Amino acid sequence: MRRYSKQRTRMINNHLIARGITDERVLKTMATVPRHLFLDESIQNQAYSDNPLPIGSRQTISQPYIVGLMTEALELKGIEKVLEIGTGCGYQTAILAELAERVFSIERIASLAFRAQRTLDSLHYHNILIRAGDGTYGWSEESPFDAIITTAGAPKIPQTLKRQLAVGGRLIIPVGSQSSQTLLKITRLSEEPDDIKTEDLCGCRFVDLIGEYGWKG
Ligand code: SAM
Repeated sequence: MRRYSKQRTRMINNHLIARGITDERVLKTMATVPRHLFLDESIQNQAYSDNPLPIGSRQTISQPYIVGLMTEALELKGIEKVLEIGTGCGYQTAILAELAERVFSIERIASLAFRAQRTLDSLHYHNILIRAGDGTYGWSEESPFDAIITTAGAPKIPQTLKRQLAVGGRLIIPVGSQSSQTLLKITRLSEEPDDIKTEDLCGCRFVDLIGEYGWKG
């Protein structure tokens, strides 16, 4: 775990604190989770630079700043049930598992879901359930969720996810075209799923959310 610890500290200072991430729990967690172990050995030395990196199947791990920003916006205190759409390599999943009580994560590409599960098992995470499938349906049997994070860009907010959000819960999702999106923070205000507060966090560019309530693959 000590390997790359200097690079992790530099990542925290230069890419997170310097760009306005202040949540101490998020900073502490990202300073300890070994991001390089989620990547292919040939690119592990780039793990702590502020870039997205390839994880196979034409998908990417998000840059550290975006992971920090999205996680901070979820306002996790340690007691939440969280849904993640887009497990990818499992790095964001590990961050969520450190900061919340339980994490349910869905990945469309089965080989990525399998590899993420293996990595997370090797790091001894026991509060994560991963399944392969179309996350735009959400995970209704486990709803409502206190927080939902979508790590792929959607044409609009899937109604399914609004419905599966607890009252007071937060949904972080990139919404826009396939070439650029706005990262949105949605807070559900009442039992009525469309009674929401919407905040724009920043412009961004994510891979496509492909599925029934996303882009058609
Ligand atoms: N958070 C991830 C990580 O730490 O590696 C990065 C995820 S990557 C930017 C987005 C992921 O969303 C991809 O792995 C992609 O296959 C997945 N994805 C796209 N559409 C999906 C869907 N409908 N359901 C579940 N996963 C989906």
